[in-house]
Amino acid sequence: MKGKVALEEHFALEETLEDSLYEDWFPAWADMRRRLLDLHDLRLQEMDKHGIAFSILSLQNPAVQRMPETDRAIELAQRANDVLAQAIAKRPDRFGGFAALPMQDPEAAIVELTRCVRDLGFLGANVNGFSEVGTPGAAVYLDDDRYLPFWATVEELGVPFYLHPRDPVRTEAIYKGHPWFRGSAWAFGAETSLHALRLMASGLFDRYPKLNVVLGHLGEGLPFTIWRADHRISRTPRGIPARRQMADYLRENFYVTTSGSFRTQALINTMLEVGSDRILFSVDYPFEDAVEAADWFDNAPISETDRVKIGRTNAEVLFKLGGPQKKLRVARS
Ligand code: ZN
Repeated sequence: MKGKVALEEHFALEETLEDSLYEDWFPAWADMRRRLLDLHDLRLQEMDKHGIAFSILSLQNPAVQRMPETDRAIELAQRANDVLAQAIAKRPDRFGGFAALPMQDPEAAIVELTRCVRDLGFLGANVNGFSEVGTPGAAVYLDDDRYLPFWATVEELGVPFYLHPRDPVRTEAIYKGHPWFRGSAWAFGAETSLHALRLMASGLFDRYPKLNVVLGHLGEGLPFTIWRADHRISRTPRGIPARRQMADYLRENFYVTTSGSFRTQALINTMLEVGSDRILFSVDYPFEDAVEAADWFDNAPISETDRVKIGRTNAEVLFKLGGPQKKLRVARS
């Protein structure tokens, strides 16, 4: 399929590169480094080769979220967003941006998101899970009351919020002796799905019903597990603040992308739980191969109607890409 839109696609600044320097990438680190820093030539070549018309770019993880010093977090987020805005300005027909945000200071995050959306034309935010506030490892999750004014601003601006994974805090005992399950193999999904459940259970979406949160990796496992969560909570609710079932929020306040989850069986399960209107194509470039993502998606045994929705038109609607800005000038087919 040509004309696809992808939205979990990452870049790095020189100073955040080491956040992605996992042993996994050796000996391919030189190539990964090059791809993370490139915001133009190589990226466009990959997009052209694999039928991706438009990519929404975001800073890689954890970057801003791992900086306990608020001033540094604010400064890094602003600089990353300025670099991204300059890259987009060269090819606004091919690239859009998600804001990096210094969640260590909720007021500063409001100011930066508003600047990014109103002044730089960004299409939303991408935040890498919890933020470390004050001291390394001091995790603050986004259902904390301090973020309520921030969420009000997200709803008011009418932009989606991408909740991107990061590793859990290093002290978690369950990963000890099993380093292969850290990171994207397992820990990212376990961490991010529970973070999303916390947002749902907190009553956030009762308070701000127009919020749209995006999850990668086919919903981080939630389409498969959400029924059981609701089933058990209904037996022992223990004063949960949310007024509705978790599955209701998953269907009405969340979108999920195919980033890094190129598996038809999992896609079908996701379609059955949330419907094809709430699924969006993505790669997770450069951590995943665009060729693998596109070859799988283009040939997955789903209807052509669903392929076009997931591959392109759902994103056009969610991000208002077909509006006056006419960002998508690349041919549909
Ligand atoms: Zn990613």
